[in-house]
Amino acid sequence: MTTLAKPALQETIPFNAPYVTGNEFVYMPQAINNKQTAGDGPFSKKCKQWLEETLGVPSALMVNSCTSALEIASLLLALDPGDEVIMTPYTFVTTANAVVKAGGVPVFVDIRPDTLNIDETKIEAAITPRTKAIMVVHYAAIACEMTTIMAIAKKHNLVVIEDAAHCINASYFGQELGTIGHLATYSFHETKNLTCGEGGALIVNNKRFLARAEIIRHSGTNRAQFFRGQVDKYSWVDIGSAYMMSDLNAAYLWAQMEQMPQIMDRRRQIWKRYQDAFLGGEMQETFRRPVVPQGCEHNGHLYYLLLPTSEKRDEVLGKLKEQDIHAVFHYVPLHSSEGGKKFARSHGDLAVANDLPYRLIRLPFFYSMSNRQQDRVIEAVYQAAR
Ligand SMILES: *Cc1c(COP(=O)(O)O)cnc(C)c1O
Repeated sequence: MTTLAKPALQETIPFNAPYVTGNEFVYMPQAINNKQTAGDGPFSKKCKQWLEETLGVPSALMVNSCTSALEIASLLLALDPGDEVIMTPYTFVTTANAVVKAGGVPVFVDIRPDTLNIDETKIEAAITPRTKAIMVVHYAAIACEMTTIMAIAKKHNLVVIEDAAHCINASYFGQELGTIGHLATYSFHETKNLTCGEGGALIVNNKRFLARAEIIRHSGTNRAQFFRGQVDKYSWVDIGSAYMMSDLNAAYLWAQMEQMPQIMDRRRQIWKRYQDAFLGGEMQETFRRPVVPQGCEHNGHLYYLLLPTSEKRDEVLGKLKEQDIHAVFHYVPLHSSEGGKKFARSHGDLAVANDLPYRLIRLPFFYSMSNRQQDRVIEAVYQAAR
C-alpha cells in the first residue's frame, strides 16, 4: 500500500463544505437594511413561523445555538443541586454541560449496538428519586426508541428533552424528531443540514414550559410579554442569558429553510449511494454500515462505518488522509472524558459506548459532493479497509 505513488494534483475531498443556496446574498443585505439586526427581527419571525408550521408545534424559539437551546431546556427543569438527568454518553459535550450548568448531574447509560443511540432498556434501572429528566440524542438523525422512552418518562413523571441537533426533517413512525419529547433542540451550526453559521432553535412541545422559556431566552426578563402588551414594563424576573439569534443569522437561515426539500433530497441520495456501495464490504465483514430501524426516516445528516477494531479505524483514517480524503471520527464518549469524570456519573459498565465509538469513521458528506468524488471515497475506503 505505502508504495503506491500519490497521483499528481489530486483534488482534496473535504469532510464538509457548507451549502449556500444563493439567497443568503439576497436576504442578509435585506436584514441589514431592515435595521433590526438583533433578535426577533423580521427574518427570525419567518424562521420561527416556518418551524412552527412545518413541525406543527406550539412554539419554536430561535436561539444563537443548539447549545443555548439545551441550556434553556436544562434550566426549565428547575433542578435542585444534585438532581439527575439520564442521557447517552455518545454525544457532543454541550448536551451534558447544559445539565451541569443548571446544577444537575448527567447520568450516562449505555448505547445500543445498532444505532449508537441511548439503550432504552438500560434507562429504568438508572432512575433514582433524584432523576428529573431523560435527554436523548438521535444520532445521525436516526431516532431513539421513543415509544418506550416516552412510556418510561410518563411512568416516572420525567421530562424528555430531545437533542435533535442532527434531526431537522427526520421522523419516527411519521412523527418529526423534535416534536416527540416535552422539549427539543435543533442546531443550525455550519456542520448541520440547514445552517446559518451558528444558530439553533428550542422547540417547546409542552406549553407549560413556554412562559418561562421566553423569559430565560430574553436574559431573564419578561420582555416577550411586554411586546405582546401583557405587561406595561419589562424587568428582570428570573435567570436567563443572551440566547437570541441575530436577525443576520436568521436571514441566512431563511434562505436555507426555503430550500429544505431540495437540500434533504440531495443529502438522502448521497447517503443511499454510500449505503448501497458498502453493502459488499459489510457482507465480507470488512466493516459495518449504519442500521436504520423500522419506522425511522433520517435526513442524510452523516454517514459512518464501523471498523472491526479501533486500530483498524485509525489505520483507515490515516490511509484516507494519504489520499487527500478527509474522513474523521466522532464523539469521544463523555463518561471517559475529564469533564465527564468530574461532573457526571455512569450507570452500568457502558460496554458498547466503550467500544463502538472508537471503531467509527465518518466519511466526507456535503450537498455539493459529486458522484465522482463519492466514488473516489468509496474506492479508497475499500482499499484502506481490506
Ligand atoms: C452540533 C451538536 C450540538 C451543538 O450544536 P451548536 O448549535 O453548535 O451549539 C449539540 N448536540 C449535538 C448532538 C450536536 O450534534
